[in-house]
Amino acid sequence: MLRTLLLASILLLTTLSASTLPASPAMHRSTAAAVFVCMSKSSVAYHSSSSCAGLNRCTHEVRSMSASAAQELGKRACHKCY
Ligand SMILES: [Zn+2]
Repeated sequence: MLRTLLLASILLLTTLSASTLPASPAMHRSTAAAVFVCMSKSSVAYHSSSSCAGLNRCTHEVRSMSASAAQELGKRACHKCY
């Protein structure tokens, strides 16, 4: 009787731990989307393409970063490539 109870509780524990596994481990993937930012102070936009006409006028360093990072720098989406 005790043996059956032990077996049942082991089965229950394995079922519980299996169902509490994280469903999706790929949550960080959305931050991989990069935009291009001209590091000039007069630049106000970030670009989806490195060959955008607005970005080609840039005489400073062009950096790729996440869109949220660009927004934190005070940039908005470029009207030409968005
Ligand atoms: Zn652009």
